[in-house]
Amino acid sequence: MPIVVQKYGGTSVGNPERIMNVARRVVATQRAGNSVVVVVSAMSGVTDNLIGLARQVSECPTDREMDVLLSTGEQTTIALTAMALHSLGAKAISLTGAQAGIITDGVHTKAKIANITPRQIRKHLNEGYICIVAGFQGQTLQGNITTLGRGGSDLTAIAIAAALQADHCEIYTDVDGVYTCDPRVVPDARKLDVIDYDELLEMASSGAKVMQSRSVEFAKKFHVPFEVRSSFNNNRGTIVKAELQGLENVVVRGISIERNQAKVTITNVPDKPGTASRIFTALSEANVIIDVIVQNVSISGSTDISFTMNLDELEKLGGLIDNVAKEIGAGEVTKKGGVAKLSVVGIGMRSHSGVAAKLFECLGAGDVNIQMISTSEIKIAVIIDESMIAVAAQLAHDAFGLGVEKAI
Ligand code: ASP
Ligand code: MG
Repeated sequence: MPIVVQKYGGTSVGNPERIMNVARRVVATQRAGNSVVVVVSAMSGVTDNLIGLARQVSECPTDREMDVLLSTGEQTTIALTAMALHSLGAKAISLTGAQAGIITDGVHTKAKIANITPRQIRKHLNEGYICIVAGFQGQTLQGNITTLGRGGSDLTAIAIAAALQADHCEIYTDVDGVYTCDPRVVPDARKLDVIDYDELLEMASSGAKVMQSRSVEFAKKFHVPFEVRSSFNNNRGTIVKAELQGLENVVVRGISIERNQAKVTITNVPDKPGTASRIFTALSEANVIIDVIVQNVSISGSTDISFTMNLDELEKLGGLIDNVAKEIGAGEVTKKGGVAKLSVVGIGMRSHSGVAAKLFECLGAGDVNIQMISTSEIKIAVIIDESMIAVAAQLAHDAFGLGVEKAI
């Protein structure tokens, strides 16, 4: 019998009615002739609530106890889902991460999966049970409960699909799939039928988050194709898999946007070895996450360095950069919010030229000023004024023909 792994996220199991909805979908999948493993998240809001509770009793709870606490969210959902399935007359059994055979390292709150021995899952499936597995959690060899980092239920689903060599892995969420751009910003954005792992990772790192990035990396590494789709309708979603011939022909797959960015510029940085290191070591020691970095060619012995980050990271900076600038003998420091990042993503860029030219041309024609540019093998990103982001996204979406049925 084909094995299907289905993962339902927090909103899909957000209340008892929705859990019944999930149970009906699961039963229909089994009746269609499949062995079904279901991975569930905590009901929406539950994990955040548990974190809030912890903060009320302790300023810095230990990571070990956080894991014991947070794992209860998913444990609630597996029991309720199994009960819902029983009420529909189905054979179902709930399994914690440990019972499902998920062994992790000991790094509490962000453990890595060391291996999976799905012996119990296989046994129950052979006996005709639907297995309901708690996402986001595992156990160390010593028997301590661990969790896999926020959004970790995606990883559980992909890892179990890999271990079982499942025929299908379906990630159910509250959106219909992955879109060419955010439909709230670009009304004619299309749902993609297929996307490459690397494209999804680039889109996610540029703001279009549908899945935990670690789980997509894991799926790529272990060759697990999966489908992202909605649990609220029966529409087909987006298949995520490795690059194919046909995929290469599409130069730009999608556009993602990230608002709330900030830009810092240090002028007149002395052009000598070690200065960039001084600046970015200070930032990393303050745990500030930097995104795009641009350094000018140096004219007469000094250069300008600009970098971007999330607006809330800017608050962490305080006087840090001003101090470092003084120490290294640089000039003025400017910090400004109100910028946004637009990225065009597509693995076809590896083998096509002219993508940057086309992007810059359409932005120029639309009077959108580009402040910074950064590229990777499959992405071109620009930093622009935040007030222009919707206009820019629509211009790029049109220029690359993403809104029409057949992408060019
Ligand atoms: N409940 C966990 C979280 O909120 C894991 C998940 O939902 O995937 O991060
Ligand atoms: Mg989630």
